Amino acid sequence: MFDGKRALVLGVANKRSIAWAIARQLADGGARIAFTFQGERIEKTVRDLAESVSSPLVTELDVRDDAAIERVFGEVAEAFDGKLDILVHSVAFAAAEDLEGRFTDTPRDRFWLALDISAYSLVATARAAEPLMDAAGGGSIVTMTYLGGERAVPHYNVMGVAKATLDSSVKYLAWDLGQKNIRVNAISAGPVRTLAARSIAGFPTMESIVEERAPLHRHVGADDVGAAAAYLLSDAARNVTGTTLYVDSGFHAMGM
Ligand code: NAD
Repeated sequence: MFDGKRALVLGVANKRSIAWAIARQLADGGARIAFTFQGERIEKTVRDLAESVSSPLVTELDVRDDAAIERVFGEVAEAFDGKLDILVHSVAFAAAEDLEGRFTDTPRDRFWLALDISAYSLVATARAAEPLMDAAGGGSIVTMTYLGGERAVPHYNVMGVAKATLDSSVKYLAWDLGQKNIRVNAISAGPVRTLAARSIAGFPTMESIVEERAPLHRHVGADDVGAAAAYLLSDAARNVTGTTLYVDSGFHAMGM
């Protein structure tokens, strides 16, 4: 499905990361995959995972840093002869204290921090990917969102506001980049046990409510999200852009 495709995956922290589940689908389909990691703490883990899929490039990226984004896309261009077909954006951050108390109490600096890392980073990396995808004749970008951007989910707080910004950015990017045959879509996943999920105070409650009230009454795994991403990133979705695909056991369809 991805034979000869060149991909860049942002957001692998460990083997439980949604980004890793997506990368495995890409690798199984024959793609060559470059990875970024944030911080020395996870470097070795990401390098080991990347090696297991014969990655040609593993490099550090903090998405808050414009110069680093420029450097990384330069490295990607070098690794892939100036072309890129796939960008996976699976990055988010909010301070732990802002995922516990009241949204009302979010201070200004941490509000912008959450939006910078979790939403603006899609805009900045899509812009950097644009010339490489244009050179490839088009491309596909997938980002990860959550229902908490559309409705109030207790404890999700500022991350919900960041996801709302991300969701809207997907639509505007889809419009701009569609001219170059670059598609931009989001996957809205139900609760998946990952590193990022652990910092959400109400996570176990979110899981049990999905199990009780979602039409399919079961949890979502990272592999389910990987399979949905594989579809959106493949040519099978060539006329799908600006949309959100829900992988949440149907929970979003319920009124109560
Ligand atoms: P994860 O912790 O494995 O991945 C989050 C990634 O964001 C990590 O790799 C981390 O290094 C990266 N990151 C944080 N700050 C960064 C920065 N400044 N620069 C570069 N990278 C940075 O957790 P995950 O659950 O796989 O999260 C991936 C995406 O999926 C996130 O956008 C998250 O909001 C979204 N999501 C997760 C769930 C869930 O239940 N786990 C549900 C819906 C959406």
